[in-house]
Amino acid sequence: MTTAGALPAPAPPVNPETREFWEATAQGRLLLKRCLDCGSVIWYPRGICPECASLQTEWFEAAGRGRIYSYTINHRGEGAYQGLPPFVLGYVELDEGPRLMTNIVGADPDELAVGLAVDLVFHDTGDGSALPRFQPLLALWATVFSGDTPDPAGPEPPAVRQ
Ligand SMILES: [Zn+2]
Repeated sequence: MTTAGALPAPAPPVNPETREFWEATAQGRLLLKRCLDCGSVIWYPRGICPECASLQTEWFEAAGRGRIYSYTINHRGEGAYQGLPPFVLGYVELDEGPRLMTNIVGADPDELAVGLAVDLVFHDTGDGSALPRFQPLLALWATVFSGDTPDPAGPEPPAVRQ
C-alpha cells in the first residue's frame, strides 16, 4: 500500500493562546507548555493548567521524538484531504508525555505499529505556520543509507528539523 506522497498542509486557525506555538512551528520548533506550579506538561497549548488551574505556565521546546500511540489508515479524506491516496491519522506520544493527534508520513502504513519510534517533521502551510507531523525513525535512516556516496566518517543522524 502506498500513501499520499505529500499531504495538504492547511493553515490552522491561530488565536492569542496559540500564536507563539504556531510561530515557532514556522521556525521548525515544537513548543509545549509546562505548569510552574504542579509541573504538568500541558497539551494542547493554552494559558491555564488543566491539572491544577494555575495560570503560571512557561513554554519549552520539545525534543520532537515520540512513539506511535495509536493510528488509523484513512481511505476517505474530507476537505483538502478529499481524493488523496490512503493516509495515516494517529496519536503520537511525545517523550515529554503529551499525545498529539497528527499524521504519520513517509512510511508504508502496513509497516507501522503501535510503539514505533517516530521523529518530528514540519510541513509548511505557506501562511506563517507549519504542521507538526511524524515519520518513523527507520524510514529516516533508510533515506540516509540510500545515498550513493558513503560518508567516510560514518552516517550522521538525519536532520529532520529546521
Ligand atoms: Zn498545574
